[in-house]
Amino acid sequence: MILRSRILLPISAPPVADGAVLILGDRIRFAGAWADLRPHVSESPTDLGEGVLLPGLINAHCHLDYTHLAGQLAPPASFPDWIKAILAAKATWGFSEYARSWLDGARQLLASGTTTVVNIESVPELLDVCPPLTPLRVWSLLELTGVRSRRSPIEIAEEAEHRLAELPKGRGGVGLSPHSPYSTTPELLRVAASTARRYGWPLSTHVAESQAEFDMFMYRRGPMFEWLEHQRSADDCGTGSPVQHLDRCGLLGPSQIAAHVNYLWHDDARLLARRGTSVVHCPQSHAYFRHHCFPRTELSEAGVNLCLGTDSLASTRLRAGLVPTLSLFDEMRAMANADSMVTPRELLEMATINGARALGQDGRLGQLCPGAKADLTTVPFHGDLEDALEAVVHHTGPVMATMINGTWARMQPATAA
Ligand SMILES: [Zn+2]
Repeated sequence: MILRSRILLPISAPPVADGAVLILGDRIRFAGAWADLRPHVSESPTDLGEGVLLPGLINAHCHLDYTHLAGQLAPPASFPDWIKAILAAKATWGFSEYARSWLDGARQLLASGTTTVVNIESVPELLDVCPPLTPLRVWSLLELTGVRSRRSPIEIAEEAEHRLAELPKGRGGVGLSPHSPYSTTPELLRVAASTARRYGWPLSTHVAESQAEFDMFMYRRGPMFEWLEHQRSADDCGTGSPVQHLDRCGLLGPSQIAAHVNYLWHDDARLLARRGTSVVHCPQSHAYFRHHCFPRTELSEAGVNLCLGTDSLASTRLRAGLVPTLSLFDEMRAMANADSMVTPRELLEMATINGARALGQDGRLGQLCPGAKADLTTVPFHGDLEDALEAVVHHTGPVMATMINGTWARMQPATAA
């Protein structure tokens, strides 16, 4: 199959006018100028028309199962208040509410050009039901929590290990998400890290998300410390920053995708870079909680791989009375509006190639190049080549078409042969 587009954004190479992609099976064999491919092929291309063809987006942090909580929780006075609110909301849900919510979230991501999602799975029963029902490439990272559980950390990790190891192999993969420093014990973090290492699984942990969490670990004070003081041991509090805490527990490394990372101590950015840990920023969730400015420059100058995520819709508010949906285009636009120094190229890399790198899929996902999986999406655009990056970042609404693994997953273009 040959796809031809007015503009091609390979991401790993500069934008190309009148571009083409040659696909054999589930892989890209060529991505570049149509004029360079034309002499070597006999079949006529599928013309995608007036648009930009780019790699499918990679959402590096999502909670699909909370999609139907969109806009329902008012922005909290403190982070612990939000945790209490979401726990209360979840207490009324059963399997079918979670499953419908998960699948709606997957549909929203697909409609907005995402082809790969790193999903934190808080409901283990959904694991063998929901991912096979979407064409999305899902990395299901099973959430682990436990601060005063009757089960030992080893039992918790072994149960997760068995559940994940039994799953049929999908287009994505599996991994573990020890939830956060405050909702786990150091022992659970250590056991999760060693289990993930044994299988080569990715890990993702919420870390340094709120001032309250930072104050709990750094200074043994603040609303989160006071809330949890009698629910968990405080032996790990007052011992350093949340990032240092994860490092002491062996959880920082190239397979760790650290979510949020808003509150850093002096050497934290360099420590994350030395360990090869990726960081995922979720701009709209960040704005909802009114966290202080995301330390993009500090992390990026230290050499940390920065990715983009939607987080869950439980940390969103209604927009002009409308329920928000999951979209990395909305996240790119939100970040561009919040950070005037970030470039369209940086934003697009965060939403594609950097997410692939975080998953150990560099060269395979997040870029249009020979050998990469044929995961791509296309958005309408009538302007000039030099404006294409900016236009894609500010794209609104559904995409024109999306392909995953060489198969149209959404809206085969009308002009297709
Ligand atoms: Zn999250």
